[in-house]
Amino acid sequence: MTAPLAYRRILLKLSGEALMGSEDYGIDPVVIRRIAHEIIEARDAGAEVGLVIGGGNIFRGAGLAASGMDRVTGDQMGMLATVINALAMQDALEKLGAKVRVMSALKINDVCEDYIRRRAVRHLEKGRIAIFAAGTGNPFFTTDSGAALRAIEIGADLLLKATKVDGVYDKDPGKHKDAQRYEQLTYDEVITRNLQVMDTAAFALCRDSDLPLRIYDLSVPGNLMRILRGENIGTLVKG
Ligand code: UDP
Repeated sequence: MTAPLAYRRILLKLSGEALMGSEDYGIDPVVIRRIAHEIIEARDAGAEVGLVIGGGNIFRGAGLAASGMDRVTGDQMGMLATVINALAMQDALEKLGAKVRVMSALKINDVCEDYIRRRAVRHLEKGRIAIFAAGTGNPFFTTDSGAALRAIEIGADLLLKATKVDGVYDKDPGKHKDAQRYEQLTYDEVITRNLQVMDTAAFALCRDSDLPLRIYDLSVPGNLMRILRGENIGTLVKG
């Protein structure tokens, strides 16, 4: 018999860049399929899975504003980019047989559902994968904040932030060979050591709601299941 899962309901945050693979823009179909496989494996093992995907592989408001665009318009384009990614992930998951619902913080009823918390929880209870698109629905936020917000709203046991690095280090592991990875940190340690884990608004939401957060490397196949089985992969941040 397999061991019970350490977490019942999770919120997984992927950056838009995670979908690019080795490309500079857009979505790599091979990469999105591999990620979709891992998510379905987690769901099949009994986890309820909510997803938030960023939009940085297409547009970010701050980048557009730096090139002269109105910031709010740029952020709206960024939020729409997250909807595009959510639809691509919905398709990849459905091709592999999963039941999926995209729920958007911006109303775009012709392409997906509106985000309604009670409906989202119902989807999860029924074994559907819920993809929360358009971040918080407000400009000047990021999808990290969207992920923290949705994780708290749906009562997730854990917020997983998938990155290209296998956790949080005391200094940049790309530049320093002696960089040390933290296995576990408290919220206060993240602040006092000035560690970059998530943006400040997102981090404050996690800390205020005592939501555990794990930062891990998505590119290592099987990591998601290892975490769900209770292995100490990446870095865990909790109170
Ligand atoms: N965005 C926003 N409000 C939100 C979430 C996202 O305005 O609540 C916009 C913002 O411009 C952001 C872009 O959408 O840069 C894409 O999201 P993000 O940068 O978080 O994507 P990631 O870096 O995770 O790919």
